[in-house]
Formats: sequence, structure tokens, C-alpha cells
Amino acid sequence: MHPFTYKFATEPHLAIKAINSEPNAVFLAGGTTLIDLMKLHVENPDTVNDINDLPLSKITEIPYGGIRIGALVKNSDCAHSQIIRERYPVLSEAILSGASPQLRNMATTGGNLLQKTRCYYYRDSSQPCNKRQPGSGCPAIDGVNRIHAVLGTSKHCIAVNPSDMAVALTALDAEVVTISSKGERRIPIDAFYLLPGDHPERENVLSPGELIVGVDLAPLPFAKRSHYLKVRDRASYAFALASAAVALDIENGVIKDSRIVMGGVGTRPWRAYEAERILKGKPVGRDLFKSAAEAGLTGAKQYKDNGFKVELAKRTVVRALTTISEMPA
Ligand code: SF4
Repeated sequence: MHPFTYKFATEPHLAIKAINSEPNAVFLAGGTTLIDLMKLHVENPDTVNDINDLPLSKITEIPYGGIRIGALVKNSDCAHSQIIRERYPVLSEAILSGASPQLRNMATTGGNLLQKTRCYYYRDSSQPCNKRQPGSGCPAIDGVNRIHAVLGTSKHCIAVNPSDMAVALTALDAEVVTISSKGERRIPIDAFYLLPGDHPERENVLSPGELIVGVDLAPLPFAKRSHYLKVRDRASYAFALASAAVALDIENGVIKDSRIVMGGVGTRPWRAYEAERILKGKPVGRDLFKSAAEAGLTGAKQYKDNGFKVELAKRTVVRALTTISEMPA
């Protein structure tokens, strides 16, 4: 591991000051991604700023009926929180479908949003990778790419965003709240992640030294009827091959509103706006759900090993929608 200086901060503004004063410095929260990547020589910071003592580990009610999930709320605490389970079950289910209990006990809300791709080439520092080393190439495009993306890819990167939690938060229209030396910023989560395009090394809109302090969820009453379905190679401790975070607002058998977001298939959490438009105002039905799923995969680009994901994702969306359409209101 590259030698580094360890520091810690007890107030957010001090953490920002510390990170801005050192080149090649990073924040450390749960460490469930960072430490792995440091051991693999993928991340090689000179300074590690531990932020675990910052007062950001609570879930609190905010004005107008929403809640704020502090950036340091552990994934386990978030998933098992009564308020999350009752108002936003899709989020609880998504978190519990990810990683292992031990990892969820350490991983944080802010860290989960920033977790790195599981692309094998990215994690192998002996291989070229445009995300890790811009301009070095993308061996996944013609290499082993069974787990890679079919939506939002570019000729420079086809890596999947690995977060389950971010998929659910996208379905809930979450806002990521940050602070930096310029003040506070609120970023709608659907604008938080960047497509790889020509710059796969840039994964989100955070500026250097900008710290996530929380995630805000506005009230979304129909999110009580929401669900996260994850399809993977084994029943636990595996990343999604395809997943769907869905919510339905149904009145007298007719869909008034919906949320459909896919994971495991996109270079970012993939909100299927056209699929949601297709559902609006129509009576619940399996053929309707199939049409929506079809629309959700429009533009999918298959690579050598991952063509199966297109059909898998469609079936995942249909099954998730069918499940919640049959839930009692
Ligand atoms: Fe790197 Fe992206 Fe290519 Fe993987 S898919 S090797 S992360 S550039």
C-alpha cells in the first residue's frame, strides 16, 4: 500500500479545509471501497482524512414532511430504520440486497453513492483502464464483459454503476446535499451521476473537496407501494446483473404515477422516463408492463458477453411491477 498521512476532523468545515490544504487527499468514511482499492494500488492517496467523527450519522425529519439521511448513516441503520421501512420500502430492500451484513454495518450513505465500479480491469492496476488512467484504453470493450453495461456506454468505458442504494434513491427523487468552500449545494440525484462519454474518470458532478453531508427525501406517499428486485449470480453478496426499483400510484386499477429505475445495466442508475410515461393513465396489466420494460431498454448496446442482460432487465422490470401492482394499497 502506498504510504499515507492519516488525519481526522470533527467538524465538516474542518474536513473541507483539511482536504483543500493537501494535494492528493481523500475522505475516509466506512472505507469498504477505499481500503480495498488502496490495497490494490488503484487508489494511492497521500493523505486520508477520516470523517467518521463528523455529526452526520442521524436520520432526521425535515420541513414539509421529508427526511434527511446523514452522509455517515450506516447502510444497516438506514435499511432497518422504521421511517425508511414504512415510507420508502424500496430503499430498505435495495440496501439489504447489497453486500454482506458486516459490510453494511460499516458502509455509509455518502460512501455508497460514491462506490467504484466492479469492472475487473479497473481493479487490476496491471491493466489499462480509461477510468483509472485516462487515455490508457478500455480492455473491457473487446474483453471479458459479462457484468458490464448495456445502457449509457461510450467507446471509452462500459462499466456498470454498482450501487443498489443509488438505484432506489433515484426512484425516490432524492437530493444529494453537499458542502464545500463555496457553501451548500443540493443536487438532484438524477443529475448527480455522469455518463462516461469521453471522460470516464469523472463519475459524478462533485468538485474536488466537496463533501456529501446528507441525502434528502421529499414525501412521496405512493412510495409505500415500492419494491427493489435484484437478479444476480447467487442469492447474496453479489452485484446486480439486473435490478429494478419501482413504485406505483394506483387508483381504481389505473396507474396515476410511477417510478422505474434500473440497476446493473447502466453506467449510472438508469431511470426509464419513457417507460413511466407509457404507464401513466393506463389500467394495470402485464402487457402494459411489458411495453414499459421494452421502452426502458431502448438504445441498449450489447457487447460480446452481456447481451443476456437486455432480456433479463426487461423481465426484472415486469416482475417488479407485477409484484407491487398486486400489493394491497
Ligand atoms: Fe476501465 Fe471502464 Fe473499461 Fe472497465 S469498462 S476497463 S472501468 S474504462
